[in-house]
Amino acid sequence: MPTLHPVHLVGAGPGDPELLTLKAVRVIREATVILVDDLVGEQVLASVLDGVATPPRIVQVGKRGGCASTPQAFIERLLVREALAGEKVVRLKGGDPLVFGRAGEEIAALREAGVDVQVVNGITAGLAAVNALGTGWTDRRCAQGVLLVTGHAQPGHPGPDWDAIGAAAASGITLVVYMGVAQAPRIVEGLLRQLPADWPAAVVQGASSANERCGLSTLGELPAMLQDEGFGSPAVLVIGRVLEAGALAQAEALLTPPVARAAG
Ligand code: SAH
Repeated sequence: MPTLHPVHLVGAGPGDPELLTLKAVRVIREATVILVDDLVGEQVLASVLDGVATPPRIVQVGKRGGCASTPQAFIERLLVREALAGEKVVRLKGGDPLVFGRAGEEIAALREAGVDVQVVNGITAGLAAVNALGTGWTDRRCAQGVLLVTGHAQPGHPGPDWDAIGAAAASGITLVVYMGVAQAPRIVEGLLRQLPADWPAAVVQGASSANERCGLSTLGELPAMLQDEGFGSPAVLVIGRVLEAGALAQAEALLTPPVARAAG
């Protein structure tokens, strides 16, 4: 029986390789096998593994909305098999591994097989997105909290109650919507039952990466802007008054041309 190592569930951050934690870099460099999601940029892994004497085996197990992807059960079996074979396994996921990933199922499968799991947090995309917009989740002048919510309902589940979420936003909670671009018209329709059409709204695509793009709009005009400006995955929507005033002025200095056009 080989010596078993814990499986590390590691957050690769939103795209910029410098946003990985020191702990993430260490466990990735010590790994013998790495199972990688496709939201993790190739340059992130390449830069972390630079100069490693014995490079690990890298298995791409991507899942991207709408495309063929590795079945979840296969990923779980592979994780268990590699860990039980004595490999030092890293499961590398974009952002933070436990924010809207399928980490819960993977942790359960590993624990059931008697394998220890350690989580190494990462910077979640929604945090990098508000940074790109020149603001913060909870600027105390206009927000008392933040709600991270998915725009993508699981098959067989009703999905978020956008009416109720709109009421939370009206009370001063910033909304950060992951996987929301495709569903934006439906999401906005629900939110508009509680919020005015001129409520500030924005999108950030590829936050912290070389291809980062921001768009500033209003809630009412958000779906049209997303479509007209061709925003697509991976992107988060940010909705709330933290986009106003000082924050907005700062953001305008950072904006790419399509955004300035949308805002004006
Ligand atoms: N665990 C990840 C989220 C996985 S869900 C995290 O903590 O960031 C996948 C969704 O995350 C994408 O559909 C998109 O909404 C968002 N996302 C991931 N990377 C992103 C990035 N660099 N910029 C904007 N959104 C991103």
